[in-house]
Amino acid sequence: MENINRYFAGEVDVVVIGAGHAGVEAALASARMGVETLMLTMSLDSIVALSCNPNIGGTGKGHLVREIDALGGEMAINIDKSFIQSRMLNTSKGPAVHSLRVQADKKKYHMEMKKVIEDQPNLRLMQGEVVDIVIEDHKVSGVVTRTGGLYKCKAVILASGTYLKGMVYLGEFGYSSGPDGMFPSNLLSDSLKDKGFNLRRMKTGTPARVHKDSIDYSVMVVQPGDEEVVPFSFMNEDKDLDREQVPCYLTYTTEKMHEIIRKNLHRSPMYAGEIEGKGPRYCPSIEDKVVRFSDRDRHQVFIEPEGLSTKEMYVQGVSSSLPEEVQMEMYKEVIGLENVKIMRPAYAIEYDAVDATALKRTLEHKDIGNLFFAGQINGSSGYEEAAAQGLVAGINAVQNIKGKEPFILDRSEAYIGVLIDDLVTKETEEPYRMMTSRAEYRLTLRQDNADLRLTKKGYELGLVTEERYQRTLNKEKAVKEEIERLKNVKLNPTAEVNSKLEELGTSHLKTQISLYELIRRPEFDYEITSIFDPDRETLSREIKVQVEIQIKYEGYINKQMIQVEQFKKLENKKLDQNLDYSLVKGLSNEAVQKLNSIKPDSVGQASRISGVSPSDINVILIYLEQMRRKDLSQ
Ligand SMILES: Cc1cc2nc3c(=O)[nH]c(=O)nc-3n(C[C@H](O)[C@H](O)[C@H](O)COP(=O)(O)OP(=O)(O)OC[C@H]3O[C@@H](n4cnc5c(N)ncnc54)[C@H](O)[C@@H]3O)c2cc1C
Repeated sequence: MENINRYFAGEVDVVVIGAGHAGVEAALASARMGVETLMLTMSLDSIVALSCNPNIGGTGKGHLVREIDALGGEMAINIDKSFIQSRMLNTSKGPAVHSLRVQADKKKYHMEMKKVIEDQPNLRLMQGEVVDIVIEDHKVSGVVTRTGGLYKCKAVILASGTYLKGMVYLGEFGYSSGPDGMFPSNLLSDSLKDKGFNLRRMKTGTPARVHKDSIDYSVMVVQPGDEEVVPFSFMNEDKDLDREQVPCYLTYTTEKMHEIIRKNLHRSPMYAGEIEGKGPRYCPSIEDKVVRFSDRDRHQVFIEPEGLSTKEMYVQGVSSSLPEEVQMEMYKEVIGLENVKIMRPAYAIEYDAVDATALKRTLEHKDIGNLFFAGQINGSSGYEEAAAQGLVAGINAVQNIKGKEPFILDRSEAYIGVLIDDLVTKETEEPYRMMTSRAEYRLTLRQDNADLRLTKKGYELGLVTEERYQRTLNKEKAVKEEIERLKNVKLNPTAEVNSKLEELGTSHLKTQISLYELIRRPEFDYEITSIFDPDRETLSREIKVQVEIQIKYEGYINKQMIQVEQFKKLENKKLDQNLDYSLVKGLSNEAVQKLNSIKPDSVGQASRISGVSPSDINVILIYLEQMRRKDLSQ
């Protein structure tokens, strides 16, 4: 670590390193919970930079955004202010996978968030590169900046994204850099390595940005936004988001393009073996697609606007690290891009990430007190995944400082719980992207009920405002009352009722039923039954959605709640994180090695560690019972 003349620059409670999606949520949470917070970042002009796709949400990711909002985070409110197109995905499927996905105006998203940070009491924002984290007696005590500032503090949250030892690759050209031409963060990486942190290389890539006027839209399929826009934030009404939307466009790659790629694969740093880091499986580069899906003669490409005040268009689906020279040729072979003008070439970035299994489910390091890690540095990929981790790290830094209970969400409570549990329990080789298929209890973890699941918790933490809390209580009450009312609105098998049912093409009533029971019929929903319900009051879309889902999926939801109870049994069997598993007789060697390295905090978490078998779990349960009896007998 090069010698830097330090000067005492100040003392705060929490220092957040990085103003990306993770850093910002961490800093706002910490400041809103009442502690003095300093956020240091390489450039104030890249606060919450959307360095890759210009959209927020999508399958699984939309759920995270709603949960962040329900807990009092900022991402949903910020995107509601800066979206330029909105679509609800998967509406033909069940509510568990309905996911909001919106296009962001990148500049506006940045500016709106910067305003919120600048106006936030207890939060100081400063441009500066952190080059060292000061650790005394296995606990953090401060940070040092490149310009010599020593900031003393009680907790540090490191959210450095894709900057640590950032290396950008375009074919044979590889150079030290952060994303979008920003400086990399090399000195901090060296300092972490010197301190013995286990860092590994990861990689991600992004496509080119091309000029709007160089595209032939006439050969593409227009992808408009939804007519009815649903807010991401529970604090917004539909009418608050009424604005003009801009379209995206669907087009395709061609066999000719695939040919160019195959001919130049040897010049791709990925295939030439120059990049050691693993890339995100679910955001493959175009090279990967052409190699992995060689039977396909075309791949979908979405042309997405980057904002209202720019002519840059994002070419979704064609991220690459091939040489610029090849990119100039290959992008022209996308249908409609024959005359395309590239404004920013595609590139891949390789960066240092920590081994997240060294972290607790609070995202605190297991061996260094009050040092938290959040975001891409933990091996995840995506703005939403980063923001969710930042929020949890920020909350727990404050809980630690205030000597309060750690804030942990488990897999049955939130997608955030699934995300963090997966990161700290399962060794991820490649950047981790959230998907609904990762959540075993997804029917109860829907995006529409995130507030009913989490807002109370945010309120108890002091993060959620009184207004938001009351709003959620009112919604909960209104849903309960309406369901109760529908149970008491009886329909009799009269001629009038049966003729209306006939008009609707469904079977006659033979006995009296309630509207509640009628709504459960597959061919019915809450809206259709209004013809049998003259006293019905007008309720908000949000409440109607809740009523309908809770009625129609009651059986499945109840079944899932029974599974959740089972899950909680093992989750509540706590394990001492200092236990030496070599002392537990009957465990397999692999289990002893894995358990001693990951130090699970519960039997439930232990059961999810790869290499720990069900019989190992039985051995642990027997061991716990023996210890319990031994304690009782003493
Ligand atoms: C090229 C590229 C391609 C991507 N592709 C995808 C994709 O396909 N799919 C997807 O889901 N996501 C993708 N992403 C990832 C997405 O951008 C990140 O997941 C997200 O930005 C992570 O948020 P974060 O807060 O962890 O880090 P970032 O948003 O990267 O923010 C990190 C912040 O830390 C600051 N910082 C770093 N080091 C220091 C230091 N030493 N001192 C002070 N400040 C520091 C930086 O200035 C920055 O503000 C891509 C990102 C890049 C760059």
